[in-house]
Amino acid sequence: MTFDELGLDTPLLQAIADLGFEKPSKIQEEAIPQLIAEDRDMVALAQTGTGKTAAFGFPLLQNIDANSKTTQGLIIAPTRELCLQITNEMKLYAKHMKGVRVVAVYGGANIQEQAREISRGAQIVVATPGRMQDMMRRRMVDITKLSYCVLDEADEMLNMGFYEDITNILADTPEDKLTWLFSATMPREVSRIAKEFMVNPLEITVGHKNEGAKNVSHEYFVVHTRDRYQALKRLSDANPAIFSVIFCRTKRDTQKVAEQLIEDGYSAGALHGDLSQNQRDLVMKSFRNRQIQMLVATDVAARGIDVDDITHVVNYQLPDEIETYTHRSGRTGRAGKTGISLVIVTKSEMRKIKQLEKILGKKFEQKQIPDGKEITQVQLFHLANKINNTEINDEIETYIPEIEEVLKDITKEELIKKVFSVEFTRFFNYYKKSKDLNQNAVGAAREESGDSTRYFINVGRKDDFDWMKLKDFLKEMTGLGQDGIYRVDCKDAFSFFNTDTQHKEKVLALFEDYQLDGRRVSVEETQGGGGRDRKRSGDRRRSGRGDRSRSGGGDRRRSSGGSKDGFRGSRSGGSGGGRDRKREDRDGRSKGRANYNDQESSNRRSDRKPTREEQRGRTPDSSSEINKSPFSGKRRRRN
Ligand code: AMP
Repeated sequence: MTFDELGLDTPLLQAIADLGFEKPSKIQEEAIPQLIAEDRDMVALAQTGTGKTAAFGFPLLQNIDANSKTTQGLIIAPTRELCLQITNEMKLYAKHMKGVRVVAVYGGANIQEQAREISRGAQIVVATPGRMQDMMRRRMVDITKLSYCVLDEADEMLNMGFYEDITNILADTPEDKLTWLFSATMPREVSRIAKEFMVNPLEITVGHKNEGAKNVSHEYFVVHTRDRYQALKRLSDANPAIFSVIFCRTKRDTQKVAEQLIEDGYSAGALHGDLSQNQRDLVMKSFRNRQIQMLVATDVAARGIDVDDITHVVNYQLPDEIETYTHRSGRTGRAGKTGISLVIVTKSEMRKIKQLEKILGKKFEQKQIPDGKEITQVQLFHLANKINNTEINDEIETYIPEIEEVLKDITKEELIKKVFSVEFTRFFNYYKKSKDLNQNAVGAAREESGDSTRYFINVGRKDDFDWMKLKDFLKEMTGLGQDGIYRVDCKDAFSFFNTDTQHKEKVLALFEDYQLDGRRVSVEETQGGGGRDRKRSGDRRRSGRGDRSRSGGGDRRRSSGGSKDGFRGSRSGGSGGGRDRKREDRDGRSKGRANYNDQESSNRRSDRKPTREEQRGRTPDSSSEINKSPFSGKRRRRN
């Protein structure tokens, strides 16, 4: 089918030609003719990147009266970024339509100015729910004569807690307006909106629910949890032309990973809800301009990012919900291009991969984290190509005689070797002592190195703990994240756990004088079998877990939500309250959505006593890769 066959008017066809769209996407093919021909509500199940903006944008533009200044179309989108993107797209579509004005209305910008824009006449308003409500309350916008209301990324808006805002807005619109709802998934709340506010809607599904974009391939890497960051760096080093979004689960991790990457000389930037709008705009601008190669983002902040040509989506940590994974991987493989979704997992998360494969109906290929030799090879090859493709700058001529003079005694072969040795030596030295990060190969060596500390704690199952509850409790107590407390082994009367050795002092200090239900809880570093016996003897337990007075307020007893998954544990990342907090906490962890049907892995269920080796809990030293990078001083630091 061609655009000519969809029933679009000439000005829109001209815009389509200008944009270089050759043929309609599937959703455009299905939605456009029907929305032009019929006055009907519509529910469309479509992923981002399917061309859905044009699927509602073209019919909306065609159907409005450009001669009237009345606001006839309202598009509601979850984030400012998406709101601006839609506005820009709509303006491009309306390029050849005289008198059409599209105005964006979103938080964090001057409301008076937005009101002025609307008062000058805006047939179409694109708004985020919060700001829209605000403007309605202040009578800065009149939507009583609306003919069309589009809800874009409805699942995400509800996920972000906008249900009430949306229903309030819809309640103020005329009964006979048409509603077009777009959603990547169809959770209960979205169906509820559809039922409540729509009449006999046309239903369109593009692709199967939860299906990832067809042209995205999925690869995963099994590493120890301690090696996530090193793995990320290697994946980046092995893909010199990477242009990626890296997803973390919390704002804190996002900031931490971005900072570490920048420190290590990568062109990275962070995008999360703790940044000001201005900071976020700057980061996005740098990303769009390719000054930032690696955008580290939370799920919420990354919603609506419409940047083409993203080569890789990196799941630094897997999200709780499968739908969130779908959203993430949808950031790449857009507009007919191919993309790769990389997942860094630990052994115990392997079952999540299996579930993703089952639900998405896609094969996830296990790959190995490349070693130094492979990376060096890739980088040298990349350099060779870069040199080959470099256009000669004529201005260099002036300097050539002097350069030739300096190099007069070396042959072409020597010159090549010397040029490439600069890079080669850097990578060779950096990676020569690097270890295999692939978890299978790490094995016993990890136990023997010294960057992890194993502790004894005198509470256990008798105190109503299991390993998940204990992990949650320790996470909250210490402020260490999901990966900060590991190898939790809950016995009857006592337990063991690990943290990185760098946290040892802090952990021990926290429990120095800690009372739980009136009883002293002690934590000590394990010292092999002797230490264990000694600790066990002092083990007089009482049930119940009451006083968390030293844990810094709030109820530390997250009930583990009845969930056995161990992934939805409360994380202490992010501070402050209010909506932002709420949103970020919901970052991929919303209620009532499909999540992995996790179970304790058998190795963690073990009731046997830990061996001496296990108690030592050593992990290999990866510090050689931590602070320095072969890119230090090479890649420009931006942001
Ligand atoms: P969307 O799903 O609306 O976010 O669109 C994703 C991207 O695809 C946007 O950059 C659009 O400009 C582009 N696009 C939309 N429709 C087409 C089409 N028919 N052919 C090529 N690109 C398109």
